[in-house]
Amino acid sequence: MLWNIYFADLNIPDHKDDIVLKGRRISHVEQADDVAIWSTSPEGLQLKLDCFFRWCQCNSMTISVKKTKWMLFGRFSGTVPVFTVDGVPIGLTDCYKYVGVLFKSTECYVLGGLYKVKAGKARNVTQATFGLEPLIGCIPAKDGIDLYMARVDPHLTFGYLEGIQHLFLRRLLVILFSETGLLPIRYCRITLALGFLHYVLGLPQAHLANAALENAFLLSNCGYANWINDLVNVLYHLPFPVACSTTDLRDPERIIKLTEDVLKSCEASVHSSLQTHVRTHFLRNRVEFNDQDHQQRSIPILTLRPYLTAITVPKHLHAFTCLIMSCHALSIERLRYAERYRPLIPRNWRLCCFCQTGIEDECHALLTCEGSSTLNYLCHRFLEDMFTRKPGFLRQNCMNLYVSEINYMGASFLDLAVPWALTKIAPNLRGFLCV
Ligand SMILES: [Zn+2]
Repeated sequence: MLWNIYFADLNIPDHKDDIVLKGRRISHVEQADDVAIWSTSPEGLQLKLDCFFRWCQCNSMTISVKKTKWMLFGRFSGTVPVFTVDGVPIGLTDCYKYVGVLFKSTECYVLGGLYKVKAGKARNVTQATFGLEPLIGCIPAKDGIDLYMARVDPHLTFGYLEGIQHLFLRRLLVILFSETGLLPIRYCRITLALGFLHYVLGLPQAHLANAALENAFLLSNCGYANWINDLVNVLYHLPFPVACSTTDLRDPERIIKLTEDVLKSCEASVHSSLQTHVRTHFLRNRVEFNDQDHQQRSIPILTLRPYLTAITVPKHLHAFTCLIMSCHALSIERLRYAERYRPLIPRNWRLCCFCQTGIEDECHALLTCEGSSTLNYLCHRFLEDMFTRKPGFLRQNCMNLYVSEINYMGASFLDLAVPWALTKIAPNLRGFLCV
C-alpha cells in the first residue's frame, strides 16, 4: 500500500504510438517496483524511458540498467534501435520473466517457453515425490492426491500438460479420474478460463481487464486470433463438443451454463472411456450400494472412491488398483499384446496356467480356479476370514444378479468399503465354497 502511494504520481504522458484498449492508451504496468513499459515505435519507447528516468531522479530512485532489458515482438525491418537510460544502453533479450510469467519474443506463441518451464517443474516435483518412496514407503492415496493438488496441479494449470498429470496419477494409484474425482487437466483449464471470463465480465467498465476483454471481443469479431476464439474452438473440439459462440461468452449466465456443460462433457468422456476400453471391464460393471437403504446406488462418475480410504495399507491399495485396472501378470493381460517372436494371443486361448480349463482373468484366479492347492487355500482363508469378521452375511439370502454371478462378485469387490455389498454376494460365495 505504501509503495502504491509512493508511486501514485508517476505519470508517463500519452504518445501517438501507444497501445489502445477500448479507447484507452495504456503504455506501462507496475507490480511493486517491477515496471514494464511498451510502445509500438522506438521513438515512443525511448520517450517513455526518459520520462520514467526523470521521475526516478526527482523521487530518489535509481534504475538498475544491468537488470533492465528490452524485447522486440513481431516483425521489424530496418536497423535494430538502441535504447538508453541516462545515456547507458540497455540490453536486448528474447526471453524475460515478468511477474512470474516467462515471455519469449522469438516464438510465434510468446508463452510457449513458460509451458516448457512449468512442465519441467511439474515433472521434477513428481519425480522427487516418488523418489522418496524407498525411504518413507508407499504414499497413501489421499495424501498423494493432496500432494498432487498442492505441488503439481498449480504448474499444470499454466499449460495443457496432460501427460504429466497422467504420469503422477499412474505412479500413485495406476488409476485416473473416475476413481480419484480429479478433473482431467484439459477440462480443469477450460473451467478456469470460463471462471476468469465470468469474473472479468463483472468488473466495472473502468477496470483495465474489462477494457482488455472488450478489445479481445473486438479482435474476435474482426477475425484475428485471440483467446476468445481459442476458447470457442477448444469447446468445439472436446471429445463431447460444447457448442457456443463469441456472443454466448458475453453473457455471464450463459457462461455458468457452459461451465456445467463442460463438466457434463468431461463426465461423458470418462464414461465413454470406461465403456469402451478393454481393460476397464471391472469398472464398467461396478456394483455399488447405499449405506442407508442398502440398495444399489448411482453416484457421480468422477468421485473419490471409498476403497481409496478404506484400504489403509498403501501396498495393498496399489495391488488392488492394479487388479481392477488389469495391470497385473495374469494371462488375460500378459497375452493381450504381441511381443517379439510371439503374436497376439486370442482371448479364448489365454488359459489358466494351473487348471487349463478357463481363461485366466481376475475372477477366475481369485474365485473359481481349482488348479492350485495353494491358491485354493488362500481363497478359502480369505472368504472364511471375511465371514468370521461379518458373520451376519451368511444369514442373508437376498440375491438379484444383474450380470453373470462371477462378474457380479468381482465387480462387488470394488465396493467392499460398503459392508452391505458383502451381504449381496455372500449367498453366492457359499455356493462356490459348498458351505
Ligand atoms: Zn485355473
